[in-house]
Amino acid sequence: VVSSSAAMIDPRLHTPLKDIDKIHETFYKTFKSGKCRPLSYRRQQLYALARMCQENVDAFTDAIFNDLGKPKQEALLYEVGPIIQRAVQSAERLEEWARPEKVTDVPDWQKPWAPTVYRAPKGPVLVIAPWNYPFILSLQPLYAAISAGCPAVVKPSEFAPTYAALLAELLPKYLDSSAYAIVNGAVPETSKLLDLKWAHILYTGNGRVGRIVAAAAAKHLTPVSLELGGKSPCFVDAASTDLRVAARRILYGKCANAGQTCVAPDYILIARDAQDALVDALKQVIAERYPQGILSSDSYGRVVNAAHFNRLQNMLSRTKARVVIGGETDPERLKMAPTVLVDVTADDSVMEDEIFGPILPIVPVADLDEVIEFINERDHPLALYAFTENAEVKQRLIDETLSGSLVFNDTFDQLAVDEVPFCGVGESGYGPQVLKHGFDTFTHYRSSEDVPLAIEPYLGARYAPYTPEKTEV
Ligand code: NAD
Repeated sequence: VVSSSAAMIDPRLHTPLKDIDKIHETFYKTFKSGKCRPLSYRRQQLYALARMCQENVDAFTDAIFNDLGKPKQEALLYEVGPIIQRAVQSAERLEEWARPEKVTDVPDWQKPWAPTVYRAPKGPVLVIAPWNYPFILSLQPLYAAISAGCPAVVKPSEFAPTYAALLAELLPKYLDSSAYAIVNGAVPETSKLLDLKWAHILYTGNGRVGRIVAAAAAKHLTPVSLELGGKSPCFVDAASTDLRVAARRILYGKCANAGQTCVAPDYILIARDAQDALVDALKQVIAERYPQGILSSDSYGRVVNAAHFNRLQNMLSRTKARVVIGGETDPERLKMAPTVLVDVTADDSVMEDEIFGPILPIVPVADLDEVIEFINERDHPLALYAFTENAEVKQRLIDETLSGSLVFNDTFDQLAVDEVPFCGVGESGYGPQVLKHGFDTFTHYRSSEDVPLAIEPYLGARYAPYTPEKTEV
């Protein structure tokens, strides 16, 4: 783990606090000048962002590998590729998103007022990103801010320092520094950023810090988007699914980034008598995917740092449940095998907090009623997964539960459908993202009417003196 010692000495990782004031002042000046507003400017910056990603793809994937041990293919598929594609798509669709909307579905007498909704940029925005998908989670809000015509400061996570330093070095070479900047640092730098007034703050990370961000924003009445996490359940309806396919798709979502994914299936709910069959299927998939042993596989990442590794080990050391798959670790290299636990009870250590690692508890349940009750007794999750071919089961989950997203028969890849909003609900956060949804987050829908002078003779009824004839209906 080279990155932590590099972090101590690299000046790119600590933006001086006085520079933060300067950046803030400059960005408000830039915004007021109207420079970021023309669609041609936004398009040019979006293409520049895509070019930065494309031309430095190896440097970025190497940095992410250095910080997280994330296999290059994962970084390309889930981070760099989508950003290049979405930045270009935003440039191409900008005109349609930003076009003023003529509202015609109004009573005839209001038609001459030409009701219109303008897409107005809110102003300079602040983006605070986490370490687990450091690239996409810092640059997705950035392309959205550019699209919306807003200057933006991005604060990457200090736990992905190689990436954070690289981004700070590259961004000014491609994007307009009077409108877009990287601020690096940890709590002091982020607290300084949060003292300042922004037009919107988008924070991705955990709920504890989410509350700090929301409280700081409240002082300035700043709107906030909180992209948080939580325990995303995965129901396997053994009576109506193929357990082998379910096992393949569950492990796809759980093993990406060694389980450190906000929408990773956190735990499984399944009928007690099907538990063993699912375990067999999971075992088989792991053997197929990592024939040389998972801890030495290049296709499997590691835990981000010693603190998270110890947190996960501690979770495992306290569990009362039985480990049936995995359990092996390599503390030196921060590697932990996918570890499946059976007969997990609701009060077990692995059911307390979001796991955010490769531990997969299986909680046996009696029936669908118990599944729904189990889900509803807890915070609304970021994702709910259900493997079922039964239409009635699907409908009951749609109607009787609530989660950020609901996916049948797969995990993780809801993030690949660009057109649907991605966001949490309740404890898993609020504020949608991705393409137009990100554009909308940083855009004020400004309503407008233009009331013709010529209709003045018809407006007498609203002016004093009020007489009974004027209010006659
Ligand atoms: P993290 O530790 O990198 O923190 C996120 C950001 O918060 C960092 O930039 C950090 O500098 C900043 N921060 C930390 N302490 C702060 C403080 N006291 N004041 C101000 N800022 C502070 O990342 P994390 O929180 O460990 O991220 C993991 C969590 O994020 C998980 O819960 C995961 O589910 C969630 N997550 C959600 C999404 C989503 O899109 N909904 C995506 C990824 C991760």
